[in-house]
Amino acid sequence: MREGYVRDRRSPKPSSDAASRVMSANKGKNTSPELVLRKMLRERGHPGYRLHFNVPGRPDISYPGRKVAIFVNGCFWHRCPTCDLPIPKSNTQFWKDKFRKNTERDACKAETLTKMGWNVLVVWECDLCNRPNEIVDGIVNALEGARTATVSEIATVSGTRDQQAYMH
Ligand SMILES: [Zn+2]
Repeated sequence: MREGYVRDRRSPKPSSDAASRVMSANKGKNTSPELVLRKMLRERGHPGYRLHFNVPGRPDISYPGRKVAIFVNGCFWHRCPTCDLPIPKSNTQFWKDKFRKNTERDACKAETLTKMGWNVLVVWECDLCNRPNEIVDGIVNALEGARTATVSEIATVSGTRDQQAYMH
């Protein structure tokens, strides 16, 4: 479960319509920006990704053979530096703590994966909306520049291969 995307009972009610919209838009795993990205990657000849592959942080989209991990970050939850969205005015301390934990967790995931030899790409939802082609170009470059790992290397990384499912 991805804590950051699930509004549970401990979360205060969003104080504004905008926050509410953002929060409900980010519920669940298959948020639309991620679907758009996956479609574009398939169209660009890279359909072999896995979702929530069993490596630290379970990246949203990953290509285990090329050790490329992609995190699609919602601007609200992960504190996009471009959008710099305001912290909700009520329960401010709750939100500050939550956002700090989210960003610390993001950094930790990226660091761990990088140490394991993965190329970690973070895609912000706003960039995906505003300049999708540029974003996909960057990912495709990373994929096509990467050395393809051998099957045994992939098995070592994934551990439990049986639990993984190709999405196509
Ligand atoms: Zn943003």
